[in-house]
Amino acid sequence: MAGKDCVKVAVRVRPFNKREREAGSRCVVSMSGNAITIQDPRNPHTRRTFTFDYAFWSHSGFIRNRDGLFVAEEPGGRYADQGNVFNDLGQGILENALQGYNATLLAYGQTGSGKSYSMVGYGPNKGLVPTLCERLFRAVKANQESCQCQMLFSMLEIYNEQVIDLLSKGGRSPGGLRVREDQQRGFYVEGLRRVPCDSAEQVEQLMEQGTRTRTTAATHINANSSRSHMLISAQLKQIFTEENITKQSNINLVDLAGSERQRCSGLEADRLKEGTAINVSLTTLGNVISSLADAALGKKVVHIPYRDSVLTKLLQSALGGNSRTVMIATLSPSDICYEESLSTLRYAERAK
Ligand code: ADP
Repeated sequence: MAGKDCVKVAVRVRPFNKREREAGSRCVVSMSGNAITIQDPRNPHTRRTFTFDYAFWSHSGFIRNRDGLFVAEEPGGRYADQGNVFNDLGQGILENALQGYNATLLAYGQTGSGKSYSMVGYGPNKGLVPTLCERLFRAVKANQESCQCQMLFSMLEIYNEQVIDLLSKGGRSPGGLRVREDQQRGFYVEGLRRVPCDSAEQVEQLMEQGTRTRTTAATHINANSSRSHMLISAQLKQIFTEENITKQSNINLVDLAGSERQRCSGLEADRLKEGTAINVSLTTLGNVISSLADAALGKKVVHIPYRDSVLTKLLQSALGGNSRTVMIATLSPSDICYEESLSTLRYAERAK
């Protein structure tokens, strides 16, 4: 993967939700091609424009404009359903993985802005992860005469800088699982369950199991799962027997903690600690990706701070180098969410 191509950033604006519609909220986001402009609802002359690799609307039809009238969507920008988003973002990751390169897909944004919708999806609106797995197994099956393929699937949660295995009942050991470093493997989680998979259905079942564990674990410790990062990893090994070639790649799919936690303040001690730890992972990730983006542009980068958080340690082998990284930043179109949306756009801009 050459130069700038190694980090791609997409922004996806979700439709208004019921609460926003009932509150008579207005759209503060507009698009022109891949440029997104956000307007301060208290000061309409204050606007900021950001340009990304992709910008998607997800709603069509009518919305309330700045003057409170229902109008057809403003022109500019692109409507994208789950299929369009996969074609733009997922397909490249799939091809990269089949060629033996690592890839990372990150979803960043405020809670309720569409991270899970984009990554996992709801009901028939399948998100990037299940579609990617489906296509991956389809490609592998089409090739099975010449290639043997093994996939190891794992799913973990990082909560307060502690690792919890979402596919294992024993995953909730006190203090979490240990992150170790090995010359060959780089950073890895000791004792993490990695399940061999050979079909998309199997992956979907594991994802359901992992999501259930995540929700139960959150209830158990009286927390909200939006405070944790979820990391799904698929290690793909392809053995081409005739040519005697083995290709190995790691695909990492990360549903990040709600970005609003970054500004967690004034809360009681425990919550504050939690806010700080989540902040460490999100801040470090931002620093790592922006250093990588700088390096890709030929700027001099002395140090990439992978070691500063659990999340970036675990992603190290799949960020940078020949890896492909895609960030999808999700936001609400509404004036109610202006501050959070602006901070999401700022974070995403650093990754470009
Ligand atoms: P998050 O994971 O960021 O907390 P969700 O993905 O759960 O947020 O999205 C919140 C709600 O908004 C869900 O009901 C989801 O179906 C809806 N939603 C989010 N993004 C979209 C989209 N692009 N198109 C349609 N509905 C969406």
